[in-house]
Amino acid sequence: MDKDYYKILGVPHDASDEQIKKAYRELAMKLHPDRNKEKGSEERFKEVNEAYAVLSDPEKRKQYDAYGPEGFNQRFSQEDIFRNFNMEDIFRNMGFSFGGNDDLFNMFGGGMGRAGDMGNDILGNVSITLQEAAKGANRSLNVAHVKECDRCRGSGAEPGSRVIKCPVCNGAGQMKETRRTPFGIMQTITACQRCGGAGKSAERQCTRCRGSGRVHTEEKVEVSIPRGVSDGMRLRLGGMGDFGRDRTGDLYIDVTVQQDRRFERSSDNIITELHIPLHLALLGGQVAAPTLDGEKMITIEEGTQNGARVRIDDAGMPHMKGSGYGDEIVNIIVDIPKRLSAEQKELVRRLAGMGPDEGKKRKFGVF
Ligand SMILES: [Zn+2]
Ligand SMILES: [Zn+2]
Repeated sequence: MDKDYYKILGVPHDASDEQIKKAYRELAMKLHPDRNKEKGSEERFKEVNEAYAVLSDPEKRKQYDAYGPEGFNQRFSQEDIFRNFNMEDIFRNMGFSFGGNDDLFNMFGGGMGRAGDMGNDILGNVSITLQEAAKGANRSLNVAHVKECDRCRGSGAEPGSRVIKCPVCNGAGQMKETRRTPFGIMQTITACQRCGGAGKSAERQCTRCRGSGRVHTEEKVEVSIPRGVSDGMRLRLGGMGDFGRDRTGDLYIDVTVQQDRRFERSSDNIITELHIPLHLALLGGQVAAPTLDGEKMITIEEGTQNGARVRIDDAGMPHMKGSGYGDEIVNIIVDIPKRLSAEQKELVRRLAGMGPDEGKKRKFGVF
């Protein structure tokens, strides 16, 4: 099948690099398999990536424009198309998250854009109260990760010893293995065990890390949780994952915002219930209502009905984007007394006798 990459991205043939990038970003966001579980979206996602791999690279784009879809596909393999296309970096720059999950890459048969010594991403989590979510919070987490060895600074060489060409792979950094199979001769390439793909090795290995260049360690990491954060949000701390010579992984933190007995959150508004006595509902007045920031006096209007709502402006959650706050909505519940003294009953009878409804002469008994 010959693919029109311009059509796939929905851009004109003379689209600028910026236009192509923008179109790709929008489509990738929409079709990303972590978000879009619709049938066929994974297939479209692959196409969109292929289109971007070609059109974002000036050299490949020139070839594509020159040969057209048919000629291009005859000349170039999938491997050619995705050469120098590091999707992980592209996605990272676009703010996508990776929870150490490689499904995305496996979709393409693996290996693409993943050459070199890449450290793993790490996923952690924190749990905070709604109040902390409103104000922002700091947490120190113990993170077990692989760090660069500080004795040899990741080189694996004992300080003072020379770094030489790796004797195992002869500096290539990778090992080729050739096997005879029923389908012909297959060649697999793996990173060199001794030098981890660096092609260099120490004459004398570092005594702390035994030449690996890395050490396992547990470290305290200070995490600053932004105010307005909502439950399930994932924060990224770049470069705090496992050390890798070519790329150190990131640390991702999933934030859980605990349920609050008093407040329910509805985007950036919070909703609460407030019981008030009957007399306050009838006569009106001031009453203290709970807010995220302690109690606040609110005004109950004369004749407030059960189920009425009072809005407290800006007492909700801070907006994460832009400035300002949501509101608090107070659902008023009027408490009807269950038991009255003889004196109170007398008062209510008098009230019933003098109310505005009396004039309508409605028929009901008062006992
Ligand atoms: Zn070391
Ligand atoms: Zn080697």
